[in-house]
Amino acid sequence: MNNRPIALTIAGSDSGGGAGIQADLKVFHSMKVHGVTAITCLTAQNPITVKSVQSTEPAMLKAQLEAVFDELRPDSIKSGMLLSDQLIHVIADFMENLQGQIPLWTLDPVLVSTSGARLLEESAEKAMVERLFPMAQLITPNLDEALELLHRKLDADHDSLEALTQEFYERFQRPVLLKGGHWNLKNDSGDRVARDCFYDGKRLEIFESPWIPDVSTHGSGCSYSAAIAARQALGDSFSEAVRNAKSHINRMIQNSYQIRNHSALNP
Ligand code: PLP
Repeated sequence: MNNRPIALTIAGSDSGGGAGIQADLKVFHSMKVHGVTAITCLTAQNPITVKSVQSTEPAMLKAQLEAVFDELRPDSIKSGMLLSDQLIHVIADFMENLQGQIPLWTLDPVLVSTSGARLLEESAEKAMVERLFPMAQLITPNLDEALELLHRKLDADHDSLEALTQEFYERFQRPVLLKGGHWNLKNDSGDRVARDCFYDGKRLEIFESPWIPDVSTHGSGCSYSAAIAARQALGDSFSEAVRNAKSHINRMIQNSYQIRNHSALNP
């Protein structure tokens, strides 16, 4: 029998199947990694809107983490929608009890959905930064998330992706992959690109793929961090994991399929 590594997603359920837990499991499966889950909340959601959100009971979130770690200890973790202060403390307490044995953790600091719904209560940002950031090996904000966490606006004339990534690192002292996908960035030939920047205090690395126009990218952030965690579970170094995950996401967007009046990423 083949052996498969295990990746854990700590995130919310998306009833529309495009983002959250559902997206993460599809990505893990397509990358031949066994996915396990700790579900933070249910969202009643479709590609247009988040209609309602219900939190998991904190004790139930803890029980999911215990059940997973008792028998199916993950090789890597990705976290996404964490919803509240209370749930963040449950996760932090659980991980602290592992006494330094925390699996490689890619933390996607999900704040607001593309459709505009708040996915992390504003009051919980501080808890995420203070308790979870120090445990994660990689933080993966998009431009809006980075700016909100840095408490500032974009200065389009002076800011660069590289400088903003370094600023994020200086503030939080954690390795960061800043996703510039929705920033209108161009390469030397003038073509629009999806460019991301990694910085860990020593090494700065750029990851780039062609911009794919006119496709819904709902769930692409979730899928990206899931793909990084999957590649890490398979043994990739950081750099390899991000490079492989980025080309996987690019293919997922390129191969999107139609569902009723919407499109979905194809893992
Ligand atoms: N819904 C859930 C449950 C999520 O976990 C996330 C992202 O992590 C989203 C929605 C956001 O998806 P998007 O901003 O790509 O629409």
